[in-house]
Amino acid sequence: MNGDQTDASPPLEQRAGGLASLFARNRAWADRKTGSDPGFFSRLVGQQKPRYFWIGCSDSRVPATEIVDLDPGEMFVHRNVANLTHANDPSFAAALQFAVDVLRVEHIMVVGHYGCGGIRAAMAEETSDAIGQWLAPIRQLNRTLIAHHESGRPNANKLCEYNVAAQIHALSTNPVVRAAWKRQAPLTLHGWVYSIADGLLQTVCDPMENPHLGTSPVSSIDE
Ligand code: ZN
Repeated sequence: MNGDQTDASPPLEQRAGGLASLFARNRAWADRKTGSDPGFFSRLVGQQKPRYFWIGCSDSRVPATEIVDLDPGEMFVHRNVANLTHANDPSFAAALQFAVDVLRVEHIMVVGHYGCGGIRAAMAEETSDAIGQWLAPIRQLNRTLIAHHESGRPNANKLCEYNVAAQIHALSTNPVVRAAWKRQAPLTLHGWVYSIADGLLQTVCDPMENPHLGTSPVSSIDE
């Protein structure tokens, strides 16, 4: 990529649209890591073996590994607006398959967060743009909740929790998860919500363990 660079040209990172400070911060971060643990990066080069797959919102205030204080290599992450687990979203489907079939993660957590802009947008006037189309399942979930809610419509934070539970349910019927459970993989699904106000996680539904663990051999398990 540097083939056309002359001696007069500044390094590529200095021409990165005024983002040189990000490269400087990156260099300082890498120095700190190797300063406290000289083998840190060389260990990561060989392979990744994370036990967790985090499915969270793209919101910049909800940085997955930072919230749970994990290092690179410890958690596989997929993020999208409002933490959806659409089986027909190719990006999500590929991440899930890689996490479950290749990395063999043991825990999948769907993590919503209070104050989610995606949830608020799904409760506002409907649009036909990319965001409107992406959030259609949450809009439908909200309609269903309003129809069945005797004490008025749920607020945005309640809808956030219901959305997490709905994504866990969708995961539990996803063919990749069902196939893993069928081969008796120790794979558990977790529904959590994060509070931006205090930085704390809470569970919003019971963990869903492999229903086939400890049962008879795979060949006799029903679909
Ligand atoms: Zn969000």
